Amino acid sequence: MLPYTSIHEAEAALGRGLTAAETLWFNYSANKSDYFLYCHNIIFLFLIFSLVPLYYLILEFFFRNSVQPYKIQPKFKLSLSDYFNCYKSVMRMFVIVVGPLQLLSYPSIKMIGIRTSLPLPSVWEILAQLTMYFMIEDYTNYWIHRFLHCKWGYEKIHKVHHEYTAPIGFAAPYAHWAEVLILGIPAFLGPSLVPGHMITFWLWIALRQIEAIETHSGFDLPWTPTKYIPFYGGSDYHDYHHYVGGLSQSNFASVFTYCDYIYGTDKGYRYQKKVLQQLRDGLGNDGDQYGVPFDTSSESLKVD
Ligand SMILES: [Zn+2]
Ligand SMILES: [Zn+2]
Repeated sequence: MLPYTSIHEAEAALGRGLTAAETLWFNYSANKSDYFLYCHNIIFLFLIFSLVPLYYLILEFFFRNSVQPYKIQPKFKLSLSDYFNCYKSVMRMFVIVVGPLQLLSYPSIKMIGIRTSLPLPSVWEILAQLTMYFMIEDYTNYWIHRFLHCKWGYEKIHKVHHEYTAPIGFAAPYAHWAEVLILGIPAFLGPSLVPGHMITFWLWIALRQIEAIETHSGFDLPWTPTKYIPFYGGSDYHDYHHYVGGLSQSNFASVFTYCDYIYGTDKGYRYQKKVLQQLRDGLGNDGDQYGVPFDTSSESLKVD
């Protein structure tokens, strides 16, 4: 809640006129509690988990011929009821874990200093903070994910997320409840080290989930704007991690590629891409994006 009763009062306190964005923020947030504003994340997450994967579902079912060349594992097909069951599981987890986690984590948001006040941050401040959040999350997530691939972590927790060997957008948040909780830590670490405005925090939560859905979409679409981000992994990169499955000791990073490069956990992926590209060149284009020919058992081509 803002400590001003009118725009005039806010302008007097700032010593200048409000920008259009600040006026909008004042009108929206002046009478709303910080807790209520924070809880907007629940609505945003619900909409993102529902609508962003729907985009890929529409591509899959209504534009199949047009997008088929961009499907990473084209042999893989699910029915509408499979998609719905996945969505149902994710929504169950949303109601039981994600929503309550948002409701209960408010004191920590206050403690680290996420603010709702004026002035609003500049676009550059928001971009700089979001970049930091993505990098901190990526690094921390890399090591947690790597730990989840040890025998205990995989068997007890992470194998639920790997039930989809060819991931779909709806399956991005599909995981064991413990994994949902554990992966909240890297998502929270960035804002706690570099606290910003509530709007930046909303954007962070939203963009991270949209990014996760894109990397699980099963499509390597040429018009995806994330292709222009340096060292960005993307759907092909993470799809390989699911494709190799439980044995995977490759492509642990959630967003960028440099952690796997530095720690040498992308060698299998790079090798596979190179060798199978040669194989695909030899066979024409009768294969998927891993270069696996449609009639060849993928088992024989897996590299850990
Ligand atoms: Zn994994
Ligand atoms: Zn995944």
